[in-house]
Amino acid sequence: MFQQPLPMEITRLTPEETATRLKEARCRLGDELMILGHHYQRDEIIRWADFRGDSLKLSQLAAEHPEARYIVFCGVHFMAESADVLTTPEQVVILPNMSAGCSMADMANIRQVEACWTDLAKATDTSRIIPITYVNSTAAIKAFVGRNGGACCTSSNARKVIEWALERGDKLMFLPDQHLGRNTCTEIGLDPEKDMLLWNPNLPFGGTTPKEIQQRKVILWKGHCSVHARFTVEQITEARQNYPGIQIIVHPECELDVVRAADLNGSTEYIIKVISQAPRGTQWGVGTEVNLVNRLAQEMPDKTIFCLDPVVCPCSTMYRIHPHYLLWVLESLVEGRVVNQVSVKPDIARDAKLALERMLKL
Ligand code: SF4
Repeated sequence: MFQQPLPMEITRLTPEETATRLKEARCRLGDELMILGHHYQRDEIIRWADFRGDSLKLSQLAAEHPEARYIVFCGVHFMAESADVLTTPEQVVILPNMSAGCSMADMANIRQVEACWTDLAKATDTSRIIPITYVNSTAAIKAFVGRNGGACCTSSNARKVIEWALERGDKLMFLPDQHLGRNTCTEIGLDPEKDMLLWNPNLPFGGTTPKEIQQRKVILWKGHCSVHARFTVEQITEARQNYPGIQIIVHPECELDVVRAADLNGSTEYIIKVISQAPRGTQWGVGTEVNLVNRLAQEMPDKTIFCLDPVVCPCSTMYRIHPHYLLWVLESLVEGRVVNQVSVKPDIARDAKLALERMLKL
């Protein structure tokens, strides 16, 4: 996505000057403005958020507040797209920095997915394959899934959606995160070796064969999250050695071995809930994005909480939402100009909404 350069005057502001002007702009926009902050955003952004949460929760909140004309989504591009799909046509969704994408969502583009579907049709009846996409995907992928009888899922409800899909079809295709797909299918009793295969969009016929497609139940797309792929079993072993009695909790975007070696796994909302409700004095090694983990550690000084990855691992694309960008979009609105609007084409939005609504109904 193209991001125009910020006015030089804004880039020269100190953090204090930026905060003063942000406060003023926010005040002037009043109830017409809603700022949403994803859990993985840095603290200097989160402090301005009216709501913080995971991507779906934030989009739903925007839809529940039609009085908010301007939704400034401090997250990444696919999140702003979902918010646009779920909100009314009168609401304007804005992403402060257009270059804030998601490496995982970028691993499945619509041309690759349509080519894959055509290849699958050479081996099996695609009307019996139910496509499922993690919400961390482009609106075009969600629309493809909606058109083909599938649904979206989040890391909280992936199990429910996968079970629903397997009741409706003979096979499922899971996009774009192989790990969430593999972890969840393993949890419901499928065998990663015998029941699943990996579709590599960069290889002829996905690097697989018609026979394998006919034999396996689950087609996993070869995508991953570059943040969660950094967590390893060795980090967990080391944390257990250094902190006897520690509990390990990881996100299901981590690899299967990591999830198996952890005590608990679940979505960011689940991680926050479990650690918040844990007794004082407990110790937690956490396998998810470091901004969230550090915030939990600050908010709960009575517990030991740290990120399992010793080399700090922020989501680099989330990090592109700097306070200067937030200030630029807010001051533009004050001046009556909408910049960085994220708008999904009506036909794509209609089909993507189908996929989102099927999930929400479950
Ligand atoms: S943490 Fe991973 S999945 Fe989430 S936005 Fe960043 S790259 Fe994408």
